[in-house]
Amino acid sequence: MDELDKIRSEINSVDESILEALAQRRKLAERIVRAKDLLGTPLRDAMREEQLLADLIAKGRSQGLDAHLVTRVFHEIIDDSVRSQQLHLLDYGKSDLKRVSFQGIEGAYSELAGRKYFAPYLDHTLFTGAATLEQVVNAVEDGDADYGLVPVENTTAGSINEVYDLLSVAQVAIVGEEVLRVEHCLLAMEEMPLGQLRQVYSHPQALAECMRFLSKLPNCQALPYADTAMAVKKVKEENDTGLAAIGSEEAGRLYGLKILRRNIEDQPNNYTRFLVLAKKPSAVDRRIPCKTSLIMATSHEEGSLLRALSLLHEYKINLSKLESRPIPGMPFQYLFYIDFEGNTADPKVAEALEKLRSATTSLKVLGSYPTEHRAKTSPRIEILASGFAQPEEKPPEEASGRKEKVSYKLASRERKTDDTVITVGGARIGGHGFVVIAGPCAVESHEQIFQCARYVKECGGQLLRGGCFKPRTSPYSFQGLGFEGLRMLAEAGREYDLPIVTEVLSTADVDEVARYADVLQIGARNMQNFSLLAEAGRANRPVLLKRGMMSTMEEFLNAAEYILDSGNHQVILCERGIRTFETATRNTLDLGSIPILKRLTHLPILVDPSHAAGRRDLVMPLALAAHAVGPHGLIVEIHPDPEKALSDGPQALRFFEFAELMRRIYQPLSG
Ligand code: PEP
Ligand code: MN
Repeated sequence: MDELDKIRSEINSVDESILEALAQRRKLAERIVRAKDLLGTPLRDAMREEQLLADLIAKGRSQGLDAHLVTRVFHEIIDDSVRSQQLHLLDYGKSDLKRVSFQGIEGAYSELAGRKYFAPYLDHTLFTGAATLEQVVNAVEDGDADYGLVPVENTTAGSINEVYDLLSVAQVAIVGEEVLRVEHCLLAMEEMPLGQLRQVYSHPQALAECMRFLSKLPNCQALPYADTAMAVKKVKEENDTGLAAIGSEEAGRLYGLKILRRNIEDQPNNYTRFLVLAKKPSAVDRRIPCKTSLIMATSHEEGSLLRALSLLHEYKINLSKLESRPIPGMPFQYLFYIDFEGNTADPKVAEALEKLRSATTSLKVLGSYPTEHRAKTSPRIEILASGFAQPEEKPPEEASGRKEKVSYKLASRERKTDDTVITVGGARIGGHGFVVIAGPCAVESHEQIFQCARYVKECGGQLLRGGCFKPRTSPYSFQGLGFEGLRMLAEAGREYDLPIVTEVLSTADVDEVARYADVLQIGARNMQNFSLLAEAGRANRPVLLKRGMMSTMEEFLNAAEYILDSGNHQVILCERGIRTFETATRNTLDLGSIPILKRLTHLPILVDPSHAAGRRDLVMPLALAAHAVGPHGLIVEIHPDPEKALSDGPQALRFFEFAELMRRIYQPLSG
């Protein structure tokens, strides 16, 4: 046996031990469920889970494992236990086989969602495909199925109205939800050049989600089919190499087709949310993070919807969804579908619902169920961030002494006194929070951006930066990898659960960049490119606006005003140094601008010490100084090997230097 074989066989035996350990853990979790059941104690303890994870991260670190890996693996494991517990509450696994109805045939996305949801008890579950969504709901209502799975919304195509309409009339309850990442594959009989395909079949929704990809297949017709798995089956049955289907990898495997391309969906974040329906609602332990769904109608009088919603607001109930559908046969009257964070078992929620009942003409509570999407940030970040408090804001009238009328309006404190807080993924930029955005100046390769992302996450950074379109002083310098780089950046962000920030240089690119980027950056050189500002103002993404290198604060705020005036209220300012007669640093970091801007405007303000310094040795002192003057965060350049960087290498922090910076920012007292 050569060395390689030996190592492989060692890996195989490690994998087997992992499987054995997982099986053993699941058995123990089941025993816990039964023991807790006997004692009548709550099933899940969020506090214990967080502590468990924090301990595991610390232990993992001591063995050289990064926090992200440990968090991801154990989130899956803990989720599996939570599912077991929840299914146990539904009396699952105690007795006979449960029947689950879904729309489609084996291999359909609804079935995959069902397999994910019922994973701990697959051997107790019988999945049956139905032809239509209505049949699924009817099967549950009539007791022909114990559970039904219906897709309710998709991140690309939006709400699935048919399901809302069915829920408004059916006597069923929602007992769970499952969010499935939908990754479409192009599947065919044999490997072959895409140019030779004549027809592609799939569900109309899946075709719509892959529209851009399909438009690049010149000789190929896209044809709607009843469901994705049926389309896959059809291609197999036709046995024609000119045909292809869009469906899941699993469907391809099941029906024996080859994968020609993966991830052909237009939106990199393509998720579908499914609801798990049952005949009766189920009680959910109050410690489990929970959602409640309801359907209501308000009277036709002015302000009645507002009164109903204010009521929920009074009870501090956070709405996660509000949808309206016309009431059949009643022109211009609507039913409202509401999801909120909360559990009907909570007396406060019950009280709010009671009041809501008298403020509405009809109210139907569809059920409370555990939320599937939990915060994926590692607890370490929260622990780190929680020690930090910002000083109280001074009222705007005490500002800079400047009394004359300012030329901007929407950006001013006079228009809006409270701080604007911008939420991106799990990060909150503005108000009392402090965020760190880090990453390379430019995305250079898949490996480079993935290394950076992993490190940013590991050190507790909240967003990932990376330039793909680089505004270089010389036209002969590296100009960035363009959209290819942007796709790598998006992939790295998704892998490490970090929202991404990237610069957009031209008006023509704004829409396309916004499809991938969570935050659009407008660079210093473009701060007064008014058409670009207006275009970014029409995009539905926060804009990180950098101060022009020769701009006054007033010009800076007027640039922000262009974006705000175009309808986009999510503007983040960034001080990155201005040009002065001093040449020892690349720019002169104007730290005095931070407290002044904070008084003049409600918008969040970040500091970029990297472009201000231009030299690695100055980034740390400038970052620490910046932190002291009270911005809402930092944006910092890092690189795995700065000597080889294709742009701004001299100012990029090495990974260990970034780790040290993070430690000094978030744990200032530990030396
Ligand atoms: C950048 O952040 O990559 C950049 C080019 O910065 P600035 O526009 O501040 O020069
Ligand atoms: Mn740079």
